[in-house]
Amino acid sequence: MEHINFLSPYKDFVVGVDTKVPLADQTFTTAINFDNAATTPPFDCVMNDLVEFSPWYSSIHRGAGYKSQYSTKLYEESRKIISSFIGADMDYHSIIFLKNTTEAINKLSNKLLALHKDGVVLSTCMEHHSNDLPWRNKYTVDYIAVDKYGELSMEDLKNKLISYGKKVQLVTITGASNVTGYINPIHEIAELVHQHGAKLLVDGAQLVPHGPVNMKPVEHPQHIDYLVFSAHKMYAPFGTGVLIGPKDTFRESPPDYTGGGTVQFVSHDHIKWLDPPEREEAGTPNIMGVLALSSAIKKLLSIGMAQVESYERALTRHAYESLSNIPNVELYTNKSHLHRTISIIPFNIKGLHHSIVAAALSKEFGIAVRNGCFCAQPYLQRLLNVSAEDSEEYMKDPTLPMPGMVRLSFGIYNSIEEINILTKALFHISRNRD
Ligand code: PLP
Repeated sequence: MEHINFLSPYKDFVVGVDTKVPLADQTFTTAINFDNAATTPPFDCVMNDLVEFSPWYSSIHRGAGYKSQYSTKLYEESRKIISSFIGADMDYHSIIFLKNTTEAINKLSNKLLALHKDGVVLSTCMEHHSNDLPWRNKYTVDYIAVDKYGELSMEDLKNKLISYGKKVQLVTITGASNVTGYINPIHEIAELVHQHGAKLLVDGAQLVPHGPVNMKPVEHPQHIDYLVFSAHKMYAPFGTGVLIGPKDTFRESPPDYTGGGTVQFVSHDHIKWLDPPEREEAGTPNIMGVLALSSAIKKLLSIGMAQVESYERALTRHAYESLSNIPNVELYTNKSHLHRTISIIPFNIKGLHHSIVAAALSKEFGIAVRNGCFCAQPYLQRLLNVSAEDSEEYMKDPTLPMPGMVRLSFGIYNSIEEINILTKALFHISRNRD
């Protein structure tokens, strides 16, 4: 057994654990939540901070009143908190607040278009749709291969960088997969990418909440050029995403959304845009969401990101070993790579559709997981050996049940005890397959 408490020392940090849910005239209990890769519950202290802030609730930047000035101060301080959390440089980078990771990647894909019209973007075969679709139809996109376990092929990355040469403008890559949990060696990749004169975007939606991340100083060969992530996956509420990148990227073209808050001067003949980040945050921003994110970051820092990583890794190892002993369970990730994954385990039970397993866990045991393709269909197709012919069939007939997996994803408030309950539940489901 790992050196870890049965009960999480962080269990009381989040709201809504063991909540009764009214659905279809009945009340159900989700007693255990293993769906943290989708969204984590907010920290209790984050919700308290929002209540404490509410007397100062007011719009920012242009108000003369004290409340507005105070809200503005807190909002702008949030950029500094985020910047130091991920090692950005406030003189060089813009920290732009948006709705989520998806919006952040879409914005960047529009911004870069103004810089490099004929560029090649190298994505990978392990991306969430949000880091794949925004690049299509704007750039020539090619995909770096993964091996049979779903790990990124560094060989293929090197080969593609060489064969496309100077045409590659951007390599866009997930920091950690939302399907397998694999962490990509982002700094090693950054060095390679920079050697070829290209830039690197890291989709940090899954990486940033689960361990220390540092963009490194800009002069460093391994620095990360662009980073994006979402608040709702790191114990803050929905509605806030962050895009970080060099100010120059956002200075070169007009904002993609224009309106209030984006201009310094406007007449019917002239427009002078504000400097980034303001020019990229059109309209009244999600002030509460931004404050909530910085509150969650403070809490995570008080726990320590290295501690978050090691605690969750111990949970993941325990779950992996427990699942390995359950008859008929198929695991897709490589055990020897557990030290390089975030807290995610995808699996199936032979002979049972993933939707049946997920429904049984929820209905019979109150355990919430996710099943399906996790917005990463090309990756799942690769991992499950779906042929091109099968893909054609799924295109033609949307009623065909798609292959997929069940995904466990842990947060710091989960515990060994909860994993043991899951293990018993899966034994039961596997035994009663027929
Ligand atoms: N990228 C990855 C790796 C994800 O896991 C997700 C969401 O699950 C996203 C991007 C999209 O995040 P959001 O829905 O917050 O835009």
